[in-house]
This record gives sequence, structure tokens and C-alpha cells, in this order.
Amino acid sequence: MSTKISNHSASLGYLAAQGCQALRGVSASPRLDAEVLLAHTAGISRSVVFAFSERTVRPEMECRYFDLIAKRVNGMLVAQLVGKKEFYSLEFVVTADTLVPRPETELLVEKALAWIPEKAKMSILDIGTGTGAIALAIKKHRPHACITGVDVSEAALFVAKGNGVALDLDVRWLRSSAYSALSGERFDLIVTNPPYVEKGDPCLLDDICFEPRLALDGGTDGLDIIRVIVAGAKKHLSPNGRLLMEHGLDQSGVVTKLLQANSLEVLGSYCDLACHPRALGAQVATP
Ligand code: GLN
Repeated sequence: MSTKISNHSASLGYLAAQGCQALRGVSASPRLDAEVLLAHTAGISRSVVFAFSERTVRPEMECRYFDLIAKRVNGMLVAQLVGKKEFYSLEFVVTADTLVPRPETELLVEKALAWIPEKAKMSILDIGTGTGAIALAIKKHRPHACITGVDVSEAALFVAKGNGVALDLDVRWLRSSAYSALSGERFDLIVTNPPYVEKGDPCLLDDICFEPRLALDGGTDGLDIIRVIVAGAKKHLSPNGRLLMEHGLDQSGVVTKLLQANSLEVLGSYCDLACHPRALGAQVATP
């Protein structure tokens, strides 16, 4: 990166502009990214960055900031650099062991909440919980629900548990590959954002993928984990139970077929904010 570290104290405005310039063409939101990273480094809020742009920062802070900008240029996500991400208006710690919760996944929470009456004591399972974002966002809004969050990664579960404690929300956390630790258990609702990226997708390349492969890689056609979840759904859903699943951009048709082939009736296909079909809802088909 050609950004020059000044030998005198640089102003917030100057640093934000330099960071923004370095991120142009790399990030879709260079200014925002630079401001968030600067605010994080300086321990101030983003509003201070532009409201008091003439304020200066110490040279060692400047170094730390440009170090973060360089990592962002290399593809790390802002959330990973600052160690947190807002999801459904809650703050989640994220680490290298977890997927960064995406705005499109808020759709799953919205749909789930629409299906869970306010005082209902429904049992809900979140498969591949990662940071615990889906499970905890649902628990926040439906405190009477009994929620279980499972993940195959012990390290991710550690993060999810910590997020549960920080948000003071009671969720049962279990290490489980899909249903492996849940034999004999049934749920009123299963929600999941499983790994669904195709193995050959360039976004999984080592030098640009800074998120855990385990949370993204869905095998050759992206459907390996989806197949397991769909195949076991009937056995783990209560009689009127429902399944709500996020999927990849072009997977709506094939996942619909998979659901139908496994005795599940599709209730709806739901689009994300970019109007792409992004999730499917289903329930056990009545014979
Ligand atoms: N939405 C993520 C992405 O496209 C993928 C998440 C997943 O595989 N569940 O990067």
C-alpha cells in the first residue's frame, strides 16, 4: 500500500481520506470501512471521525490503523478486523472461527418470528449456529421459546456461548453435526443457514477467503449439508413443525425438489433485500 505515514500527528479527516482511497476498488463501501476502522483504532465512535475531523491521533495509532487498512485491502472483512458485527440490532462477537452474520440472514429471523407466537413455548433448533446470531436474535424477541443452537465447530460454539452470556439470553448450546447429537429430539421449528457455497466457487480461494471454510463449503454442488438437514428434518420435526432454510443464489429450485423428495411440503420461497430467492420454508407434508 502506498499510503504514507506522516511524521507528525495526522488528523482524523486525513486518515479517513487516505484509508478510503486505499480501499477504492477493493470494497463496495470504502469510506464507511475506513471510518469504522479508524474509529475502532482510536476508540471513538464513527460520528466523532467526521464531526471532529481536524482532531489528530498519535503516530502509533496511525500505524495500527494502516495495518488494518492493509488487511482489509487483502480481503479480510471489517467485522473480523474489529471483532464484532451487528445483526438484527444486536451486537455479536465474531472471530476467525465464525462466519460473519450477513444482513440477508436477518430474513430468516424475520420469518421465524412471524411463525412463533409471542408467548409460545415452542422448541426451536438452529443448525450451524456460528456466532449464535439466529438463535439469539430469535430468543431476544421470543423469550418463552426453548432454543437449541448446534454447531460442528467447538470453537464457534465457544463464541456463540460468549455472545449468549453477553446478551444475557438463555440458549442451549450443543456440539452436533446437523442432528448427530439430537437423536430422538423433535422441534417445532428448525432454522438453518448451512454452508452452501459450491466447492469450486472462487470466493473459497485461500487468498481471499478469511472465513472458516467449514461454515461456507457445501461440497461439489453446494448441497452436501443441505441434503443431510433435509433428509433428517421429518424425523426431527414435531407433527406441525416447520423448516426454514437459507440457500445460495441459484439453489431455490433444486432445494425445493429436495424438500419434496423428503416428504416436505414447501410453504414459501423468500427473497432477500436484493430480491434474490434466499430462503425456503417447509413443513411435513400431510399424506
Ligand atoms: N451468504 C454467504 C456468502 O455468500 C454464504 C453463507 C453460507 O454458506 N451459509 O458468502
